[in-house]
Amino acid sequence: MLSSIISKCRHVGYAAGYDRRLKFKAVCWNKLNCRPFSSLIIKNGLIVNADRKFEGHVKVQNGKIIQVFEKNSESEEFSFQADTIIDAKGKFVVPGGIDPHVHLEMPFMGTHSIDGYREGTRAGLAGGTTTLIDFIIPAPGQDLVDAYKEWQGRAENNTCSDYGFHCGITYWDDSVPLGMERLVKEYGVTSFKVFLAYKGSLMINDEECLKVLETAKKLGAIVMAHCENGDMVERGQSKMHDMGIFGPEGHYFSRPNDIVEQEATHRAIALARSVNTPLYVVHVMSPAACDEVHRGRSSGQVIFGETLASALGVDGTHLENPEFRHAAGFVMSPPLTMETNAKAELMKRLACDQLQLVSTDNCTFSTSQKELGKLDFARIPNGCNGIEDRLSVVYSEGVDNGLLSICDFVRVTSTAAAKIFNIYPRKGVIQKGSDADLVIFDPSQSRVVSYKTHHHAVDFNIFEGMKLNGVVHTTISNGVVKYSVDGDRNTNEFIEQFVGTGRYLQRDSFGFPFERIDALDKKKEERIRKKSNNFSQVHSLSINFANIYNIEISQSIYLILKYFILTQKK
Ligand SMILES: [Zn+2]
Repeated sequence: MLSSIISKCRHVGYAAGYDRRLKFKAVCWNKLNCRPFSSLIIKNGLIVNADRKFEGHVKVQNGKIIQVFEKNSESEEFSFQADTIIDAKGKFVVPGGIDPHVHLEMPFMGTHSIDGYREGTRAGLAGGTTTLIDFIIPAPGQDLVDAYKEWQGRAENNTCSDYGFHCGITYWDDSVPLGMERLVKEYGVTSFKVFLAYKGSLMINDEECLKVLETAKKLGAIVMAHCENGDMVERGQSKMHDMGIFGPEGHYFSRPNDIVEQEATHRAIALARSVNTPLYVVHVMSPAACDEVHRGRSSGQVIFGETLASALGVDGTHLENPEFRHAAGFVMSPPLTMETNAKAELMKRLACDQLQLVSTDNCTFSTSQKELGKLDFARIPNGCNGIEDRLSVVYSEGVDNGLLSICDFVRVTSTAAAKIFNIYPRKGVIQKGSDADLVIFDPSQSRVVSYKTHHHAVDFNIFEGMKLNGVVHTTISNGVVKYSVDGDRNTNEFIEQFVGTGRYLQRDSFGFPFERIDALDKKKEERIRKKSNNFSQVHSLSINFANIYNIEISQSIYLILKYFILTQKK
């Protein structure tokens, strides 16, 4: 009986792979509901959540955290009985990383970005990231639900860890609000992205943008914005061409952040303010754009800003490298800024919550794909890597440099994304009942980044040669060890045993970003009514006054207002 069940299961290999003794305990009964029936304990680790850290043990069963034990506290007993016990002494135990901005196998000019769902989630596990949120980008005119099915068709059964989707809105007609509603209610896609750049393909205008914001607000979905002024970019590119500049450095000079990114960030925030709905600004690449996010947040608006691992680890000076292969590898939009101090500046903005989290915008193209733009920077496919190195870049450049605390590290790599995209507390925290997505992070080790050893499909790495302090020791996704530096569990082959075990995350609408929206709306309405009441009183008084003294109404209003102002001054 048992052998027949095992032979039906396409995932039984992974149980045997990490522990032969578990072979019979990890039988998958149904490939759509693949869950390991095993238990695991991580003992003696420094458990870190976004709010606090403590020494203790974590117990996992059937893919969930079933107990978190704090040492030196009066919590209940802890029994050390489990199929697998890992000693994490001297290491951090953190919630699995969440990268809410990736483009895997994204169609592009007849080809696609080279990291697919298999490779992207593989790199994620090697880098301590257990959840990715990818973007459905419908072609102009394509039905949104059809686009969802197309994207899901590529992702389903091809990921090694859990994943979700946002959806881009790249055009507007009567079908779009209906499509948005179906995506929210039937498919759990509760975030929509607008592009203020890419004129002629993905860009929508301000009126369309307002319609997306209004529709999303009704549905309880958050709007995300790519903030660059598409008209400025188009002109900037022509100007570079007129000047005879066709190399990768022209990419930066055609769309400098402190004008092109800042203007669009300001505008997107103003549009969201007029609708009073939450806005998430993707890839804030420069302090100038961050100033706009900060201004919006300080005014009480519900705004979130994300920056990227690339913006924290490298800068735009690489675009001036004389070797095309090197320079083209750094082409992404908005561009990496030429300000060499921007990396540390953005990290400080994360520390004080002017920016909320770090994602990657991982969208990789091989060096031969990048060659498409050999003769013209405007044709270089946009995008860089980041998924695998994100946690180490944030730790090394943030925590190790004293700019972030270890709790901040958890907040910006996991918890904030879980809250904003409404998968908290299922993800983003180590507590009883949460998914067992856990990372054992070793702060005492370091590594040197190279495309030769990374787990991405791409043959280039923007962090090449960087020595990063702090390495991912073990990654556990849904209760299963899917990567470890120990033994032979750090190979692509080992991780790929888990292809098909990642689950699609259906997300609910009206999450945490919507908490303040109703109250803000109510206050605003009260303010307007109060002002308009005052005015209608003045208006009716003026009509009587005009009749009595036989003067023009406008003159009457003028006299009454003047009277009010004079008496108020006293
Ligand atoms: Zn993107």
